[in-house]
Amino acid sequence: SLSDRLTGALKDLRGKGKLSDADIDRTAREIRLALLEADVALPVVRGFIAKVKERAKGAEVSAALNPAQQIVKIVNEELVEILGGETRRVRYAKTPPTVIMLAGLQGAGKTTLAGKLGAWLKKNGHTPLLVACDLQRPGAVSQLQIVGERAGVPVFAPHPGTGVGGEGALGTSSDQGPVDVARDGVAEAGARHHDVVVIDTAGRLGVDSEMMGQAAAIRDAVDPDEILFVLDAMIGQDAVGTAQAFADGVGFTGVVLTKLDGDARGGAALSVRQVTGVPIMFASSGEKLEDFDTFHPDRMASRILGMGDVLSLIEQAEQHWDVQEAEAAAAKITQGELTLEDFLEQMLMIRKMGPIGNLLGMLPGAGQMKDALSQVDDKQLDRVQAIIRGMTPAERDNPKIINGSRRLRIANGSGVTVGEVNQLVDRFFEAKKMMAQMSGRMGMPGGNRRNN
Ligand code: GDP
Ligand code: MG
Repeated sequence: SLSDRLTGALKDLRGKGKLSDADIDRTAREIRLALLEADVALPVVRGFIAKVKERAKGAEVSAALNPAQQIVKIVNEELVEILGGETRRVRYAKTPPTVIMLAGLQGAGKTTLAGKLGAWLKKNGHTPLLVACDLQRPGAVSQLQIVGERAGVPVFAPHPGTGVGGEGALGTSSDQGPVDVARDGVAEAGARHHDVVVIDTAGRLGVDSEMMGQAAAIRDAVDPDEILFVLDAMIGQDAVGTAQAFADGVGFTGVVLTKLDGDARGGAALSVRQVTGVPIMFASSGEKLEDFDTFHPDRMASRILGMGDVLSLIEQAEQHWDVQEAEAAAAKITQGELTLEDFLEQMLMIRKMGPIGNLLGMLPGAGQMKDALSQVDDKQLDRVQAIIRGMTPAERDNPKIINGSRRLRIANGSGVTVGEVNQLVDRFFEAKKMMAQMSGRMGMPGGNRRNN
């Protein structure tokens, strides 16, 4: 399988300098296959791979990752960036009600989504009203009413006496078209103080001009704040054409992907995002109300690549490398070779590592470094960083030479007081002395202090 092939490539030795063209080409070929298998549209794949290659060419070889891993990492970052670059929240109207219109093919999951959105809005403190404007498909109105009842959200429907939601019948006379129902529904929301209206519309199995005409007419009648294009993720390669047709025929401001509980790899997400430029806002992953969430670009990127394992491997490799680097620095410390440069690097590394920094407690030397740093908060760390960056390489290497006039120069250059520079230099010498003592007592380096 693809994952196997890549895992094979991952065993390659680490390189030096820039990533080689051969590495890039070979890995790019595998990524290309992964994207095509995930049903990303071919032109989108081409453009994407070209961009990734460009970025990979300029990249320095990572010490932590082999070239294949590094390219996968770049691909993943680019995917997340594209999928989530403009992720945004619902735009609520300044004066309610906010009108959200749903559009999409029949079976895409609009009516189901109306219920989910209703429940979600309610949970977020809104008082939504669902409006049943699919008068085409028999049973579409009662489907929305059932969904609304389940969500505990009232439904405005064209037939009197069938409304649900605990407010009695919501509805109008029966011989109305979908445009009238939409308009009346929005008016009803205003009168009954619903702050958001979700308009369910009709879809066809395929794109046709009558359906587009109707959706456009509803749009013109109610002037929605959001038009959400609902897209079945299982539609695969047809996603681009369908999205384009809806973009041209109705226009939309957000995309909702449905049926992500299926086995689709989700390439439709990337295609639609790239071709229309409209952000993906929500993801639906089942028939139940709670199978619904805001869209997470990182999860989708991992799904499209189909390399969740590889990605977590990469993450582990990078964290492991951080630990290795810390270990090397710790060895230096225990040999009394600590410089201010090491001191700074250690601090930055520990900060970057976050929770994994706790592992350092298990390492000789580095554990003491962490202890010494534990009283330092982030803001202080920024100042420490500024001070050390304000020193010359010679001063960082051999802090003993930092005399009074040098301290004044460093303080002026890094925007702190001389007192602060003194404090840092003192703390450095203290830490160094303490570490030398402790490592001496415990027979460092190479010892293991876990059992002491
Ligand atoms: P509409 O024609 O666009 O209104 O689509 P529906 O809301 O009627 O959904 C069509 C079918 O897909 C129904 O059987 C839904 O239960 C099902 N469905 C909708 N969303 C999802 C989803 O996220 N996952 C799964 N597995 N089924 C879904
Ligand atoms: Mg429907």
